Amino acid sequence: MSVKDVYEEMKAKLSNVVPDVELHLKAELVYEINKLKEAKNAVILGHNYMEPALFHTIPDFKGDSLYLSRMAAETDKDIIVFCGVRFMAETAKILNPQRRVLLPAEEAGCSLAASITADDVRQLKARFPGVPVVTYVNTYADVKAESDICCTSSNAAAVVESLKSDIVIFLPDEYLARNVARDTGKHIIFPYLDDSINSDAVGLDYQMIGWRGRCEVHEKFTVQDIQDIRLQYTDVVILSHPECSLEVVEASDFAGSTSAMIKFVEETEAPRYLLLTECAMGDNIAATNPEKEMLRLCRVRCPHMNEITLEDTLQSLQDEKYVIEVPEDVRELAVRAVERMIAIG
Ligand code: SF4
Repeated sequence: MSVKDVYEEMKAKLSNVVPDVELHLKAELVYEINKLKEAKNAVILGHNYMEPALFHTIPDFKGDSLYLSRMAAETDKDIIVFCGVRFMAETAKILNPQRRVLLPAEEAGCSLAASITADDVRQLKARFPGVPVVTYVNTYADVKAESDICCTSSNAAAVVESLKSDIVIFLPDEYLARNVARDTGKHIIFPYLDDSINSDAVGLDYQMIGWRGRCEVHEKFTVQDIQDIRLQYTDVVILSHPECSLEVVEASDFAGSTSAMIKFVEETEAPRYLLLTECAMGDNIAATNPEKEMLRLCRVRCPHMNEITLEDTLQSLQDEKYVIEVPEDVRELAVRAVERMIAIG
């Protein structure tokens, strides 16, 4: 396939979301990346938040973090290039340590993953001995290593219920925890707000213990945003991610993981949709569903996901950087929590 063929393919798929001048430039990068991917026996995984010219071209597998974790675990390619953020690439390394895992941009972090340390988890476990710890996959390997089981936004409630425990520690996203507490009928407390709360606290009724992490993208959406859009477009269907506040989720028509949102748009017939999540996902859905009108609230972007570009991905394959490493003692503990999550599905 020549650069011209790549350009024609991209034009057919993306002309409604990517300007033509950009398509020409990006087609050359896609061509080079695909050539190198084959030469180096690499697989590229692309998260749903990647920009459309990357998302719809170079990944062998694309989707949410749960699906991409599964694909990372199963691949027999020599190199995994993770077009996503650091905690995702770490999860790939945890599940498939024989492979060389590359993250195209060294700085691609996550406000949720940065909100908690392994020491924070150890301190919580000391305050609430014997209480199982559920950790969102949006955390670093050493935090996963302190956990009993991981979860994603698509299986968080199922993971909590699978533990059949009277009390569960759920880390680190405050809003996801509040949404899961509502869905599972549990009362949640946030002991970081009060140092005196521990497992001996008398008369305190709770079944979930949360933390103060927030996604810097999803925390910015407000009920006012929803009201403003509904005033302008009375027939809009609004979808939110469970990393949004409880109030935003309740004011939306549907809430779910990135994959659940994509499925919802594909399987329903509404005049227009608004996704309260990373803006690139609206473009990605619009590219494959040109008949659906996707409204965008693009003032809110994830700076970490946006670090990953086609240029960086080419450079990453050329120089085999940035290599993701997880110390073996940490990996051995973390892999149990991740595999337990995958088994729940
Ligand atoms: S969108 Fe939020 S949760 Fe996802 S990587 Fe960005 S900061 Fe982290």
